Amino acid sequence: MKHLIDIKSLKNDEILEIIELAKYYEKNVPLGTQKKKQKGSVALLFFENSTRTRFSFEMASRKLGFDVFNFEAQKSSILKGEGFFDTLNNLNAIGCDIAVIRHSREGFIEELAQKNYSYGLSLINAGEGKSAHPTQALLDFYTLNKHLGTLEGKKIVIVGDIVHSRVAKSNIELLSRFGAQVVCCSPDYFEDWTLEHIKYEPNINIALKDADAVMGLRIQKERIENNVPYAQYIADYQINEKNMPDSAILMHPGPVNRDVEISSTLLDTKGEIIIEQPRNGVFVRMAVLDLIFEGVQR
Ligand code: ASP
Repeated sequence: MKHLIDIKSLKNDEILEIIELAKYYEKNVPLGTQKKKQKGSVALLFFENSTRTRFSFEMASRKLGFDVFNFEAQKSSILKGEGFFDTLNNLNAIGCDIAVIRHSREGFIEELAQKNYSYGLSLINAGEGKSAHPTQALLDFYTLNKHLGTLEGKKIVIVGDIVHSRVAKSNIELLSRFGAQVVCCSPDYFEDWTLEHIKYEPNINIALKDADAVMGLRIQKERIENNVPYAQYIADYQINEKNMPDSAILMHPGPVNRDVEISSTLLDTKGEIIIEQPRNGVFVRMAVLDLIFEGVQR
């Protein structure tokens, strides 16, 4: 693997290789201590806010022994007028091997890779607009596998702001490829009818019935121009003690807005896997970095 752009560009056996390597890291590399292995360097370039993704990429990089450089867009030469392509060219010249990029523009990272604007760098998509968040989907797949085993025929319900969510898009692509039955539940203003491989069920009680896993989504305020009718949304689409099936696992990519997409009570009684997800993210991101670094020619 030279880059990780989106789930589409990964073959199933590459996905399974990432999962197997992540399992190895989970068993063999305790978090919180250093275990040096690689000698490369990783630049984290985040143009949108992040807590879990940025920290877990940093933790994963350090666990593997990479040097990590955090780019601060607001303090960088981009504000002096430098184009991002030129920034990447300079990072490559300085000796960075991998650039982990979060950006608001859909298709941006693929364009960088295709036009060779990555220069010698390998690029990893750490969340791009509303289109793709491949490492989140990989860590969700890893988490689902751990709790449900094979996903063949399993009912995974994604509730909330589907149309603006890159997490939903990457998960739908990945989970349906491995045989899951993906059901999306949202009001019509959050539906995305261009998506394939899913079923829509607007009634949350019907959607959640017999679910194996329920994935909540945050309302992506930063991508929405119109006012969202919050009170009505909460009344109709909040995941809570009344509609959450006992036997299903509860997931959310974070950050959770308590008492909006999930009730605080449910989060505090059934939210343990939501905390496990970012932890799994470290192992999955270690696997991705490791496999990509193998392909870096310097
Ligand atoms: N952290 C996820 C993302 O970057 C989900 C969210 O922000 O709601 O897409």
